[in-house]
Amino acid sequence: MPWKIKCTSCNTEGLLNVSFDISRQKSIYHYCRVCKKNTFNEILGYIE
Ligand SMILES: [Zn+2]
Repeated sequence: MPWKIKCTSCNTEGLLNVSFDISRQKSIYHYCRVCKKNTFNEILGYIE
């Protein structure tokens, strides 16, 4: 279940695989490879 997410600190887009529905959340706290730390990521949408 890949979701497209975007780091709100560096604007890097990435994919997140989770087994639960995060579509009701506006953002998710997740590790960013670019920032090298956990950041808030905007949830852009679900990828089929
Ligand atoms: Zn980042």
